[in-house]
Amino acid sequence: MKKYNFNAGPSILPREVIEKTAQQILDFNGSGLSLAEISHRAKDFQPVVDEAVALIKELLQVPEGYSVIFLGGGASLEFCMVPYNFLIKKAAYLNTGTWAKKAMKEAKLFGEVVEVASSADANYTFIPKGWTCPDDVDYLHITTNNTIYGTEIRKDLDVNARLIADMSSDIFSRPIDVAKYDCIYGGAQKNLAMAGVTLVILKDDVLGKAPRPIPTMLDYRTHVEKGSMFNTPPVVPIYSALETLRWLKANGGVEAMDKLAQKRAEIVYGEIDRNKLFRGTVTDEADRSLMNICFVMNDEYKELEKPFLEFATSKGMVGIKGHRSVGGFRASCYNAQTIEGVEALVACMKEFEAKA
Ligand SMILES: *Cc1c(COP(=O)(O)O)cnc(C)c1O
Repeated sequence: MKKYNFNAGPSILPREVIEKTAQQILDFNGSGLSLAEISHRAKDFQPVVDEAVALIKELLQVPEGYSVIFLGGGASLEFCMVPYNFLIKKAAYLNTGTWAKKAMKEAKLFGEVVEVASSADANYTFIPKGWTCPDDVDYLHITTNNTIYGTEIRKDLDVNARLIADMSSDIFSRPIDVAKYDCIYGGAQKNLAMAGVTLVILKDDVLGKAPRPIPTMLDYRTHVEKGSMFNTPPVVPIYSALETLRWLKANGGVEAMDKLAQKRAEIVYGEIDRNKLFRGTVTDEADRSLMNICFVMNDEYKELEKPFLEFATSKGMVGIKGHRSVGGFRASCYNAQTIEGVEALVACMKEFEAKA
């Protein structure tokens, strides 16, 4: 039976990315050695990093004066590296979910943290609006897509502060205006690559301002200066990122991904809103994530939750169980998610409704 992968992360990648990476693991560029066996400094691997960085700059139209680096440690390490490197006195954080909260917790180790707004009291079912950011902050940190709660800030905010964004789960799904950000980061395993690598885009002239000694590995300058080769980088995940970036370019880039994301979301949210069994969990429709679509069973059908999960699983749906902090269901629709995949999910929802 065909499987439709709705996992939240690690998650669906284009099939050809998996296949091409697998081939290189068996025989890297015809060398007779595996990608996993060569030195990261091998003359063959440098072009992988160079091409990946060039494609990121091209696809996101990264302006002059920015560096693109690959790190280990996941987005979670960036929660600490960001304030370590950028928090001088005071930073602002928009609290839109679990990941935002974790980022804020780390920042408090380094200086004053202002929570500009929070939807924690409403279990993060919306993105707070109408807040203001103090004028004197070093940066405002946002999480553009809240993977767990299914809300998204799908635009580049106009605010009176430099932006730093955790884009782990929606990067490369729409065009972004990189110039508004001092730093953009993301764990690769949602929309870019196999798990194990983090992408960081940095504005060069904000580096080196923090008034504290920074351990070498946690200092962004180390990795910028060494072109992500200060120590052994995660070569296989980086290679898979390169294949995803090539796939992205061949498939119309971030504009095409944006259109596809809108189309997938229309199909799934359309069915959630139509189907008598289900409702979306996000209270302001404008905040609905195009990447992680969260929904629950309406109260009068609550006891059908498990049966629906079993039914959908029997039809090949994988990973649609909601995160424990939201319950219900979550259909993650990253770039590699096909229209066929979301139509198969919708067909399940319709068929189950007819039987209910
Ligand atoms: C998954 C996720 C993280 C955590 O990423 P790791 O790479 O596992 O540390 C952080 N932020 C967001 C928005 C995520 O979706």
